[in-house]
Amino acid sequence: MNEVKKPKKPLIYYYLIIMLALILFNSLVVPYFSQTKITDVDYGTFMTMTEKHNIGKVEIQENQILFTDKKETQVYRTGIVNDPDLIARLHESGAQFYGEIVEEMSPLLSILLYWVLPLMIFIGIGQMLSRKLMEKAGGSNSMMFNMGKSNAKVYVKSSDGIKFADVAGEDEAKESLSEIVDYLHDPSRYEEIGASMPKGILLVGPPGTGKTMLAKAVAGESNVPFFSMSGSEFVEMFVGMGASKVRDLFKQAKEKAPCIVFIDEIDAIGKKRDGAIGGNDEREQTLNQLLTEMDGFEGNNGVVILAATNRPESLDPALTRPGRFDRRVPVELPDLKGREEILKVHAKKINLEDNVDFSKVARMASGASGAELANIVNEAALRAVRDGRNAVTQADLEESIETVIAGYQKKNAILTDKEKRIVAYHEIGHALVAACQTDSAPVQKITIVPRTSGALGYTMQVEEGDHYMMSKEEIENKIATFTGGRAAEELVFGSVTTGAANDIEQATKLARAMITRYGMNEEFGMVAMETVTNQYLGGDTSLACSESTQSEIDKKVIALVKEQYEKASSILSENRHKLDELADFLYEKETITGEQFMEILHR
Ligand code: ADP
Ligand code: ZN
Repeated sequence: MNEVKKPKKPLIYYYLIIMLALILFNSLVVPYFSQTKITDVDYGTFMTMTEKHNIGKVEIQENQILFTDKKETQVYRTGIVNDPDLIARLHESGAQFYGEIVEEMSPLLSILLYWVLPLMIFIGIGQMLSRKLMEKAGGSNSMMFNMGKSNAKVYVKSSDGIKFADVAGEDEAKESLSEIVDYLHDPSRYEEIGASMPKGILLVGPPGTGKTMLAKAVAGESNVPFFSMSGSEFVEMFVGMGASKVRDLFKQAKEKAPCIVFIDEIDAIGKKRDGAIGGNDEREQTLNQLLTEMDGFEGNNGVVILAATNRPESLDPALTRPGRFDRRVPVELPDLKGREEILKVHAKKINLEDNVDFSKVARMASGASGAELANIVNEAALRAVRDGRNAVTQADLEESIETVIAGYQKKNAILTDKEKRIVAYHEIGHALVAACQTDSAPVQKITIVPRTSGALGYTMQVEEGDHYMMSKEEIENKIATFTGGRAAEELVFGSVTTGAANDIEQATKLARAMITRYGMNEEFGMVAMETVTNQYLGGDTSLACSESTQSEIDKKVIALVKEQYEKASSILSENRHKLDELADFLYEKETITGEQFMEILHR
């Protein structure tokens, strides 16, 4: 058997517990049964009983006298007093002299009675308990007290549980997850065709955006059991436990398939292994076990693993490679419409006044997560109770935004009004430059709520289809688009922000590649100045040219980006009122789709 070593500590604890129990048993329970039969009395009582001829048996020992009453129902004990006539009087009273009234137990019998019997009882109870536990946990190996049992909770048929409808907003996440629901409903359809579901899906997003809720909803919608465990729970207490917990969890899951296994905070075990000295052995073992389990089952056995994290970049690449958690579902902070819906979902549970304007509350709580919104509603209800009212008012909700958001402000990037306006212009700047160059919808959707990535706005680019080649003009246009954000900021506000850092990096990379690798500079022609050394891991490049050429390249890169920046600036100032109109729309609604964008542009 290839079982991992069982932890030693629990066994020692087990023995300790038995010893303690035995000692308690012998010092408390045994005397109660064996010795209460003897009652201590004073010598006077003894004499009175003798005079009344009420003595049955008597035994005179060295330092005490044991005797019984006439009916021999009770054994008494009294001390020795100098009393020469005692024997004569006793004889006269008709007492019988005995050598041994209270029989001593034989040593063997007493050992049996005091030690072996209780021991057997305890072991018996222990085994019964552990068998029961094991049955409950789905049956497993037969250790006495299997403390390594996974405490994965089994949520039986979640038909009364959470459904997608309970998760407000998050339409994109729900859409990607509905495929899983479909699969769990009828795996055979997929098997027939030979398609296999992804084994692992990573829900990525800031805390409190409803990742756990979504996972539960998938189980609820597909009506399958829901196993859940938190990453930090794996790595607790005893060494070796994490790995055995993972094993147990998967064993249970496979028995109950189809089912959902949900691992919260997967970054607690899935952090990059950096090989640092004194690294966390326990965590690595657990991670390895998880990887082994995931590789060990085929894609179609009906176990779908969902994991949640808010730090996807810190995950070990081994965890995110194909065949493991290869699908990623972003669960982002809700936009205006999403916030309004979440507020409404939670407001159903409380008493509301009629004139509450949710859209106004949602607007004020820009950047709040689902959990924060739920908290806002609850705070408002508490406020109403404090004031002795029986319904929540608009003022309650508005007040509690401040209480809740102020509490979270340090942790979350909540945009101020000014920032929000700048971000709106920045994002529209990108999109407008792109649209004017190609005259087609450049984006599917732009949203201005802070994102997991740290970006303040988010632009969902239109899929360009299979696009293996790009012309020189296309690359130039792309660079212009990258600079469009900054150009808009400068044009409208006359100042610039740090928001363009990522744009700058991308634009520079492209411009550099044009010159050094794609042969798109007249002066250099088709000469490679740079080679890609590491195509599969990040695509690092190394320079292959003289130093003087290097400074030439740098100058050309700068000039190229500058040229495109100027192009972007002039596009934007030519279309200044469209820029304003679009940015206002985005600022107001926080979201703009590609169609809305083109509609306003062509109005
Ligand atoms: P996460 O797992 O992403 O940290 P949870 O799923 O635990 O977040 O959400 C915490 C709470 O926030 C939920 O119990 C729910 O009350 C509320 N919540 C979060 N997102 C939503 C949403 N989209 N719709 C409704 N309630 C939400
Ligand atoms: Zn930008």
